[in-house]
Amino acid sequence: MQTPAGVNVGPRRPALIQGTHMRREFSKRTKLVCWNRAGGQCEKCTAKLFHGNVEYHHIKECAFDGGDTPENCQVLCRTCHRKITGQRAAVIAKSNRQHAKNAGIRKPRTIRAWRKFDGRPVFATRER
Ligand SMILES: [Zn+2]
Repeated sequence: MQTPAGVNVGPRRPALIQGTHMRREFSKRTKLVCWNRAGGQCEKCTAKLFHGNVEYHHIKECAFDGGDTPENCQVLCRTCHRKITGQRAAVIAKSNRQHAKNAGIRKPRTIRAWRKFDGRPVFATRER
C-alpha cells in the first residue's frame, strides 16, 4: 500500500462494518504467539491440543472491535470453544439487532392484510 507521497503505510485492512458480526481470522503470527503461550494445552480446561482439536477464540469479538492481538486470542480445545461461542451467539445477535434498530432498520412486515371485526379487509402499506 503506497500513498501518493510514496510512503509505505502497510497493508490496508478491510473496514469493519459496524453493527454486523464480521468474522476475521487471527493472523498466522498471532496464532503462533498464542500457540507457544498455551504450551500444547487448552487455556481453559488444559486438555491436550493437537491438529484438529485446537481453535483460536476471540475473547472480545470482532463485532465488538476485538482486534488481532495475542491478548485478544485464547487457544482452546474444540469443546471449550463450542461452549463459549454458543453462549456468546445470543449476545452478538442482540447487539446486531440493537444496532439495526438504532439505524432505523426494521424487518419488513410479514402480515400485509387482515380483517377488521366487521369483516372489512385492511391492506397494510409497505412502509412501517
Ligand atoms: Zn478446553
